[in-house]
Amino acid sequence: MDVTRRTILTATAATAALSFVGAPHIARAALPLTQPGLPFAEDALAPTISSKTVGLHYGKHHKAYFDKLNELAAGTRYADMELSEIMTASATSAEDAKIFNNAAQAWNHVAYWDQFVPGGPARPDGELATAIDDTFGGYEGFVDRAVTVSNEVFGTVWVWLTRDDQDALALIGYEDGNNPVALGRPGYLGIDIWEHAYYVDYENRKEEHIRAVLDKIVNWRVIADRVAA
Ligand code: MN
Repeated sequence: MDVTRRTILTATAATAALSFVGAPHIARAALPLTQPGLPFAEDALAPTISSKTVGLHYGKHHKAYFDKLNELAAGTRYADMELSEIMTASATSAEDAKIFNNAAQAWNHVAYWDQFVPGGPARPDGELATAIDDTFGGYEGFVDRAVTVSNEVFGTVWVWLTRDDQDALALIGYEDGNNPVALGRPGYLGIDIWEHAYYVDYENRKEEHIRAVLDKIVNWRVIADRVAA
């Protein structure tokens, strides 16, 4: 359709008229935002991630991000937005850093739980397997690279399978709750390397945790769907 200045003006006038006469407000995802349920039982990922860790991580940490976000976003311009919209809209706002941190962490963990499946499929196949082999020199190279990247960022870290500036597949580390999606890049697989994700099960053996997660519980069909989206 040819969008002329006239049609834009008409549309604007129509929108203004509707709001003037009090058109019903169509709520999209008004607060409170609800934490999605776990897609598996709390003990389903054991022993890679124990029932105790999933219970704390999902039931306390993840829940707290939703609770805090609902509290912070109430009465703000974010109140009628969906979670991903809040995250992207607040990503560059210094004054809304708390809203961003909680929205990003709420979003990160939804992606995190959704990408696991008890018992696998624990390896990529098809085009994605080829892309991972080409980029990282095989699955073991991919796991090794994830460990290396996790050590390049100081403090709390997420490592994401995403795309770099050349649009090539890449593993990139992010501080705190930051993630590639908030920066306009895809987020295919997010590995949470905050201590709360592994300390109960692995104490300070971070590398062992990363290797176990990538070896045993990633649902590569979910990752392939994200890549294809
Ligand atoms: Mn976490």
